[in-house]
Amino acid sequence: MRTSLRRCPKCQEYTLNDLCQRCGSKTFVPIPPRYSPEDKYGEYRRRLRKEGEDQYGKHKDNLL
Ligand SMILES: [Zn+2]
Repeated sequence: MRTSLRRCPKCQEYTLNDLCQRCGSKTFVPIPPRYSPEDKYGEYRRRLRKEGEDQYGKHKDNLL
């Protein structure tokens, strides 16, 4: 059995109740990070940029 952990947006505290015991705010179930094409391209772009930086670093070393 799985209990859904809820979180208060104000206190940033985790609770199992619908309402935060501290401030009474309505808590929400944090959505787990999902795989998305955007993230994939972001990762690809980051990797490309890193490689570019590495190449630039090599060129810099060659110039020096
Ligand atoms: Zn709260």
